[in-house]
Amino acid sequence: MKTCPHCGTRWEDDCCFCQRCGAPLPPPPPPYGAAPVPPPRPVYPGAPSSSTYLVFSILATLLGCFFCFPFGLIGIGGIVYASQIEGALGRGDLAGAHTAANRSLIFTVLAAASPLIALLFGLLAGFGSIFGWLFW
Ligand SMILES: [Zn+2]
Repeated sequence: MKTCPHCGTRWEDDCCFCQRCGAPLPPPPPPYGAAPVPPPRPVYPGAPSSSTYLVFSILATLLGCFFCFPFGLIGIGGIVYASQIEGALGRGDLAGAHTAANRSLIFTVLAAASPLIALLFGLLAGFGSIFGWLFW
């Protein structure tokens, strides 16, 4: 049944116009058992994009593991936090999403920096051996 928004008379669902006052009737409700239309996810301005953080953290982890195996695994922390961004946004927790994004970024930077750190240690070790060779 539909109720005329203008005069309040009730009509069958297949009526498009009120036959008493001529006002258009609202569209019929979805049939019982039909899949409810999911509410559109709200768009948060300035919300961190989980996919961007995810891609960068995965790349940093691969890079870190390739050049500096055990230390590069720290990038997994970035992946974990990046995957939490989506969940936080789903709960409407914009602050939580930003926190997860920042933590993801820290791990991503650490993982991406691990080859540089390895390079630095390599250079130091190299210099050490050169000096050791010179002064030995
Ligand atoms: Zn009416």
